[in-house]
Amino acid sequence: MTELSPVLKQATPVTVDHGAGCYLYGTDGRRYLDFTAGIGVTGTGHCHPHVVAAAQAQVAALIHGQYTTVVHRPLLELTERLGTVLPAGLNSLFFANSGSEAVEAALRLARQATGRPNVIVFHGGFHGRTVAAASMTTSGTRFSAGFAPLMAGVHVAPFPTAYRYGWTEEEATAFALRELDYLFATLTSPAETAAFIVEPVLGEGGYIPGNRTFFQGLRERADRHGILLVIDEIQTGFGRTGKYFGHQHFDVRPDIVTIAKGLASGFPLSGIAASHELMAKAWPGSQGGTYGGNPVACAAAIATLEVIESERLVENAAARGAQLLAGLRNIDHKAIGDIRGLGLLVGAEFSTAGGEPDQETATAVQQRATEHGLLLLTCGAYMNVVRMIPPLIVSEAQIDDALVVWRDVLAHV
Ligand code: PMP
Repeated sequence: MTELSPVLKQATPVTVDHGAGCYLYGTDGRRYLDFTAGIGVTGTGHCHPHVVAAAQAQVAALIHGQYTTVVHRPLLELTERLGTVLPAGLNSLFFANSGSEAVEAALRLARQATGRPNVIVFHGGFHGRTVAAASMTTSGTRFSAGFAPLMAGVHVAPFPTAYRYGWTEEEATAFALRELDYLFATLTSPAETAAFIVEPVLGEGGYIPGNRTFFQGLRERADRHGILLVIDEIQTGFGRTGKYFGHQHFDVRPDIVTIAKGLASGFPLSGIAASHELMAKAWPGSQGGTYGGNPVACAAAIATLEVIESERLVENAAARGAQLLAGLRNIDHKAIGDIRGLGLLVGAEFSTAGGEPDQETATAVQQRATEHGLLLLTCGAYMNVVRMIPPLIVSEAQIDDALVVWRDVLAHV
């Protein structure tokens, strides 16, 4: 008898039969309101008819057209179309399959373009599970323990995690920037630093939004020292935060963005975007892969971008996110220490009376919510943050339904 690896930790006991919109339907005959969206992937909902039709049509035309052998229409069309939504100046794209691959492509480009060996990541960041990406991941030792040595050349600076420090946002930000300068003075000189790699909102690290002063501080230092600012938009991109990209909340200009997840409604597709001048500094042949820019995934991505626009999903994410955040803040519980988020990326952090991380209550809430038909996930170094990432199509009534379950579950933990 064969099995799925026992190391794949299952967040819920649900075996899913099919999905439609904001709902997953289990083989147990139950319907679940899906506030996980496949970890922030299915922004257009499950099996959006427009995405399904585009993918089905593409399957019949071309399934695989290896992109360093031939180019194909969906790849060219998607590249063109992304130009209308990407930050100004990021006009050159490389496509891969997973977020981790995109992060590694960004790292390779940053090192090749600057000729510098080191990168600075921010404490609590998650950038993936492949070895280089895991080396830059500091949201939990579970992602990097047991297979050392990790990649060299990674330094870690603080992120402004105000709640954890018990400081105001201003204090945490001033601290983070001061420590970054100290890091330059003590661990990696600017002249040896290729890039900052940073999420607009710490995702796996606990759903902690960055802020304008912090990101402006990074940009200013990047400009001063010739360091590239790589913004990892893998979880925050394509409307999730109520703007097209998370960093747009902070009016900051990235040199490279990484994209994946919400781009293709569930088809494996990722990429990096940079200016032509920067991308051209990657070493010839250093970008490629068997499956990158798969035609079906590209067709699904084009359809996804069309749905985001025609259904005004970025605006919906902002409005429904505000509703969700306000609704959650209206429901008190002694173990909830902090509720925060940007758009439809919202977390509730559970703490004990003594202020310690309360993983037990967070896990109980997440599991009981599943029993009540609401799928949620946890995150954070201590897994004590319950996160909500509904599809961007979520309706006002569905947010209300989730809040009813939330109130019910909290009353019994
Ligand atoms: N970066 C960020 C910000 C992510 O949230 C994730 C996935 N959670 C990744 C990178 C890695 O993506 P993947 O799992 O597709 O490799």
